[in-house]
Amino acid sequence: MFSVQRSLFLLLLVFFAAPLYAAPARRPSVEDLTIGASAQGRPITALRIGDGPIKLVIVGNTHGAPEANTYALATMLADHFRANPHEVPSAIRLYIIPTINPDGLALGTRFNARGVDLNRNMNTSFDACPDNDWRVTVFGAYGIVSDTGGPYPDSEVESRVLRSFLLDAWGAIFLHSAAGNVFPAFCDHAPSIAMAQTYATGSSYRYMRFWDQYVITGGMHDWAASLGIAAIIPELVTGTEPEFEQNLAGVQAVLAAAEQLLPAPEDRVENGIVVPALLWRFWRMHGGNDLFGPPLAPAVVEHGMTRQIFERAVLEIHPEWADTPYLVQLAPLGRTRTSPAGAAPRNECPPPECRRFTETPYAIQGAFAAFWERHGGLATFGFPLSDEGMAYAADGAWRVQQVFERAVFSLHDDRSVSLEPLGWAFLVRERSLVSAAAHQVR
Ligand SMILES: [Zn+2]
Repeated sequence: MFSVQRSLFLLLLVFFAAPLYAAPARRPSVEDLTIGASAQGRPITALRIGDGPIKLVIVGNTHGAPEANTYALATMLADHFRANPHEVPSAIRLYIIPTINPDGLALGTRFNARGVDLNRNMNTSFDACPDNDWRVTVFGAYGIVSDTGGPYPDSEVESRVLRSFLLDAWGAIFLHSAAGNVFPAFCDHAPSIAMAQTYATGSSYRYMRFWDQYVITGGMHDWAASLGIAAIIPELVTGTEPEFEQNLAGVQAVLAAAEQLLPAPEDRVENGIVVPALLWRFWRMHGGNDLFGPPLAPAVVEHGMTRQIFERAVLEIHPEWADTPYLVQLAPLGRTRTSPAGAAPRNECPPPECRRFTETPYAIQGAFAAFWERHGGLATFGFPLSDEGMAYAADGAWRVQQVFERAVFSLHDDRSVSLEPLGWAFLVRERSLVSAAAHQVR
């Protein structure tokens, strides 16, 4: 016998009891990462909290020992979010790098172990503002002028760790001390400005549109914003205290508004062709047209991998390598090439002009070694697959060439180096295979 009251009672019981049996809210995952190593081999680490699509990165201690309080702050922030991962909204992946300059921190200097100011070393030459372009001679703390920009943009191993780690970032917070303000990237970038204002309000630091004491060239924040990453510098008030409560409030304000504040990486149009966001950022940060030439065809997705043909390389997105330097890679087209004529292993290989590898019998030297190193070395081009020899280049000239896993280098009469147009050759081969298949059908 079921009365109406009894049915209602059972219904209410189910209704109120149901939440007891609902799955508990998923705890955001937490992971310790090693994302690279310094010039002296010290690990550069990051803590990841959360699993969302929005990658927000906090970078501590770019300026080593004199700004050690930003290392203390970043470490305290990491400890806090490790203990309270639920404070990171589900849409966000928060990364905290306690120090991008472990050598400077250990050696008691603002610079890295090679005497370079890491916040003056980035390639800021491709945004719309010439004032902040990379230079050797830079302004440092207190406006002191020195030649600490590095030998060329992105020359330092720490700069390259940051460069590849931020490839897919939406936002970046670079902690410095001690001026007591928050400012965005120099060049006009609305998301950076909005993030700086949000952080300033949360932390009670003063918002400043510009760092007005001297010109910052080659800065990480300017480099990041030029790729579309919302980028700010909070300057702690003191040079000694971590100022944890203020900065936690600043970070929490950004986290709370992140879905509105931080822009998704954007596809761009180059040469009239859409370039997917991550491929565009990789192409742009490595020198764009100058190194790889323009895109020649729209990107395609094959076997779950996005690939696009540029004149001098085929670029591929490898999602399984996220948070490593190999998220975007050049296709290994050098492996399809034969060695140039007369290439023979050398007996003599005096460092530093010549460099050998344990993984391959081939060495690199002179102009090719400098070009290989300057444009990303192993991560970009892979190992040499031949020694230097002579071959016909795509321009019809008989040139010194060397084959690498992911490129072929060609030496010009003025001693400059360029990549052979392997992307173009790949496109021609691919198209001719397609037409051959069509002929077979007929
Ligand atoms: Zn600093």
